[in-house]
Amino acid sequence: MSGLAPVDDPRPMEDEVLALRAEIDRLHAEAGRNVDVFRRTLDRELAILEAQTLPELLEVIVDGLRASHGVEAVSLVVQDPQHEIRHLLLGDGHRPDSFAGVVFTDSVVALAPQMHSLARPWLGPYVGPDHQLLFPGIAGLASVAILPLTRGERLVGTLNFGSADPGRFTRRHGSDFLGHLGAITGLAFDSACNRARLVRAGLTDYLTGWHNRRYLQSRLREEIARSQRQGTPTSMLMIDLDRFKEVNDSCGHLGGDAAICEIAMRIDSQVRSSDTAARFGGDEFALLLPGASVAEASHIARRIMRAVSSSPVELGPGVARVITLSVGIAAVLPDATQGDLKSRAERLLAEADAALYRAKAAGRNCIEVAS
Ligand code: GH3
Ligand code: MG
Repeated sequence: MSGLAPVDDPRPMEDEVLALRAEIDRLHAEAGRNVDVFRRTLDRELAILEAQTLPELLEVIVDGLRASHGVEAVSLVVQDPQHEIRHLLLGDGHRPDSFAGVVFTDSVVALAPQMHSLARPWLGPYVGPDHQLLFPGIAGLASVAILPLTRGERLVGTLNFGSADPGRFTRRHGSDFLGHLGAITGLAFDSACNRARLVRAGLTDYLTGWHNRRYLQSRLREEIARSQRQGTPTSMLMIDLDRFKEVNDSCGHLGGDAAICEIAMRIDSQVRSSDTAARFGGDEFALLLPGASVAEASHIARRIMRAVSSSPVELGPGVARVITLSVGIAAVLPDATQGDLKSRAERLLAEADAALYRAKAAGRNCIEVAS
């Protein structure tokens, strides 16, 4: 603002009062907008912190923020060089590409020039060649806000807002609320990933990466319920390696571990993606085959036996050995009146296990079917 106007010339003074009033009105309106943004941001931050799972959090971030902030686009860029986060989602039954607005990338830095030194939110005009990778498939944007998500000092993602209004995000705007929202989003995202990792670790076998016994038992109940609904059978294969103690005794624990992994891969090559394969215990594997009759399950069991024992398994440098396995098969087709599916699932397991025991007793390297 310039100095005061001379007293004998009232016009400039009036102009100045008008300009002052306009400035006060503008500040007033901006304060109102800030309170509004503050409230909306606070609400969203609470929703983000309350999200229970990773898929739920992604939805709250992308769809929730777009609605609450009334912008054309919100996207979340996630640095995921080992595809680990995508596998966490897949393991939870969600296709990573089903989350519109979530962009997975090997390196955040490569996506936009602003990423090279993004310590604070960057607000400014939308420039197609610079920002289109942040908002794939979205046209008509005029201004953007890019919020860094960091772990320690490292940039691991960004939360991005895109507006068709060129005045919505400009360098003139304060970015404190957005900076706070970015920090909360980053923390919530990290914590949701850690929770998903824990759940997965509790259901995964550390050696083979297969599902473990706990996972199989919970799937078993679901499959039996499906079997009942659709009127199709579910078969169960219990597989145990023959005389595996001898492998450990001759080649050591590490040789035994390598053999278990190799055999798991050979078994895996024979099952369909709709089947559930689990490492049930030490040298014991279980397969759940939805829709398969006893005859089909026996056919798959024979294929697995061939795949495992037709060539020696490498147990260490220069040491290889043919390993055989025994299989017990049981099948279930619960009728509509069957109520207690949990005990039916337990019975199926027990039947397959008893058949396996008979296969061992019959001399091993063979298949037995539950009567
Ligand atoms: P059988 O034909 O009766 O099944 O004889 P077996 O020697 O295979 O005996 P059993 O199935 O009862 O025992 C499995 C052995 O597998 C016991 C243990 O030494 C070994 N084992 C179990 N888990 C692991 C593991 O994670 N790594 C290794 N290396 N060995 C394991
Ligand atoms: Mg065994």
